[in-house]
Amino acid sequence: MELNAQWADQWMRDAAASMDENRQRLIDLDRAIGDADHGENMDRGFTAIVEKLDADGTPGTPADVFKLAAMTLMSKVGGAAGPLYGTAFLRGSAAVSGKEVLDAGDIVAFLAAARDGIVSRGKAEPGDKTMVDAFTPAVEAAETAAGAGSDAAATLSAAANAAEGGLAGTEPLVARKGRASYLGERSAGHLDPGAASTTLILQAAARAASE
Ligand code: ADP
Ligand code: MG
Ligand code: MG
Repeated sequence: MELNAQWADQWMRDAAASMDENRQRLIDLDRAIGDADHGENMDRGFTAIVEKLDADGTPGTPADVFKLAAMTLMSKVGGAAGPLYGTAFLRGSAAVSGKEVLDAGDIVAFLAAARDGIVSRGKAEPGDKTMVDAFTPAVEAAETAAGAGSDAAATLSAAANAAEGGLAGTEPLVARKGRASYLGERSAGHLDPGAASTTLILQAAARAASE
C-alpha cells in the first residue's frame, strides 16, 4: 500500500499484535539480563496506542500517527524503553511532518531521526548492546536501499532485515548501557531485549507496507 496515514495506523496495529505474540519471548530475554518486564512494557504500550487510534480515529498524516504513538508510549510505558521509543517516534514524526505519503527518502529521514532521538536520549553508542544496535544497521540499510532506487516498502523491508542482523550481533556483546550493564561481563551470551523489540517494530512496518 501507499505509505500514508492508513499504513501508519496499520503499522501500529501489526506492531501491537507482534508485541502480544512475542510478549513471553521479550520477557524471557529481559529476564536473562534485566528485570523481565520488557514484554509487558511493550505489550502495554502498543495496546494503548491501538486503543487511542480506535477512540480518536486514524489521524490525517503518518506524522500524526507517530506523534500519537510517541505520546502514548511516553505516558504508558515505564522503564527505559518507553521514553526511548517515545522519543524515537516523536523525532521521526517531526522528520516527516505534513507529508501525506512517505517515499523512500522520507523513510530514511524518519528512521535516521528516530535513531538519533534514541541516541540523544539514552547516550548509547553502537556496540553497547541496546536497541541502537538494531536501529543503526536499519538506518544504514535503508539509506543504501533508497540510494539504489528501492521504493518505500522495499526500503522498509531492507531496514527490518538489517535490524534482525543487528539483533543477532548483540548476543556476544557486553552491555554498557541500561539495566543489563549492571551484569558486566555476565551480560554477554544473550540477545538484547530492546534490539529484539526494535526488530519486531520494523518488521511490522515492512509487513504493513506490503499489504
Ligand atoms: P528497563 O530496563 O527499565 O526495565 P525495558 O526492559 O523496557 O526497561 O527496556 C530494556 C531495553 O532498553 C534494553 O534491552 C535496551 O535495548 C534498551 N535500553 C536501555 N537503556 C538504554 C539506553 N541508554 N540507550 C538505548 N537503549 C537502552
Ligand atoms: Mg526491563
Ligand atoms: Mg523495568
